[in-house]
Amino acid sequence: MERYAYDVLIIGGGAAGMAAALAARRRGYRRILIAERNKELGGVLLQCTHTGFGLGYYREDLTGIEYARRFRSLLRESGADIFTGTSVIRIFPDRSALLSGAGGVFQVAYRKCVLASGCREKTIWSQDVAGSRPAGIMTCGTAQKLINVDGLDVGNEIVIAGTGDVGQVMAGQLAASGVHVIAMIEKEDRPGGRRRNRERFLEAYDIPVVLRSVITRIVGSRRIEGVLVRNLDSGGETFLACDTLLTAIGMIPDRQLLEDCFPDSGVPDWVLPVGNCDYVHDVVDGVTLDGLRLETLL
Ligand SMILES: Cc1cc2nc3c(=O)[nH]c(=O)nc-3n(C[C@H](O)[C@H](O)[C@H](O)COP(=O)(O)OP(=O)(O)OC[C@H]3O[C@@H](n4cnc5c(N)ncnc54)[C@H](O)[C@@H]3O)c2cc1C
Repeated sequence: MERYAYDVLIIGGGAAGMAAALAARRRGYRRILIAERNKELGGVLLQCTHTGFGLGYYREDLTGIEYARRFRSLLRESGADIFTGTSVIRIFPDRSALLSGAGGVFQVAYRKCVLASGCREKTIWSQDVAGSRPAGIMTCGTAQKLINVDGLDVGNEIVIAGTGDVGQVMAGQLAASGVHVIAMIEKEDRPGGRRRNRERFLEAYDIPVVLRSVITRIVGSRRIEGVLVRNLDSGGETFLACDTLLTAIGMIPDRQLLEDCFPDSGVPDWVLPVGNCDYVHDVVDGVTLDGLRLETLL
């Protein structure tokens, strides 16, 4: 098996991983590796065709794709080796890692490890929802990727569970493309997300929001046919017919590699989680600053 040696191994090439590479270079490290399982650097930014990125860091209103492209050009300064299409399968306490790419599996030894693996979206299966598990149910992030990256449609009659920023972005994009967004379901007494997004997505497209309510049952056998929605105050239930249910019900930092490597003990100081894998940030500017801050911590 091939074996490589680096000063810093960065796992994930989203906004956090790219900023971490710059920070490592500025700190004086020379041998830096970014391992990214996708074909391109950028992470979730690459599926965001809407604006709202970089308002803090660049003082410009960029799309996610533009933000990623702009940051990628800064990366030359880092001199990092970039292995795309490469997954880190495991990290080990002896400061080595197993990676898998087009050429097969290989080993990397390193002094420091930056975990920039982002976060995972909670799925409907994490909720107490009765009924079957037919086709037509997915997270908003998955829908966004299918539509914006793969050029596919996800459905025509959509219900969205959750009203945070990600749900609002998808509701607005779907409505703008002529898809019928039947309703967004929210358990709180007001919609979530930032005001800017509420104005430009919910209000601009007049998306109905059903407050103080939760989805209690999924109806349908092969494909979803509707959902039962319960009002938390009255207990009354309403059936909403739909062919697709999208969920935007929260995200969890993806620290699986750490949990596998250190199941019982704490995380040693040579592993640094950063970006959404550390905690879920609202905007990308915070993720970038988090990565750049490693200059003093690595
Ligand atoms: C729908 C949506 C809308 C958003 N809208 C806005 C907005 O309007 N304005 C704004 O500022 N922010 C917005 N954000 C937030 C912002 O995009 C993210 O917070 C930020 O891009 C996250 O960066 P990250 O690097 O932490 O994670 P990610 O972008 O998720 O990057 C993690 C990377 O790690 C890779 N990876 C994971 N595990 C491995 C492994 N084992 N081996 C190799 N690679 C691995 C993944 O492939 C991924 O590329 C939005 C996010 C979403 C989802």
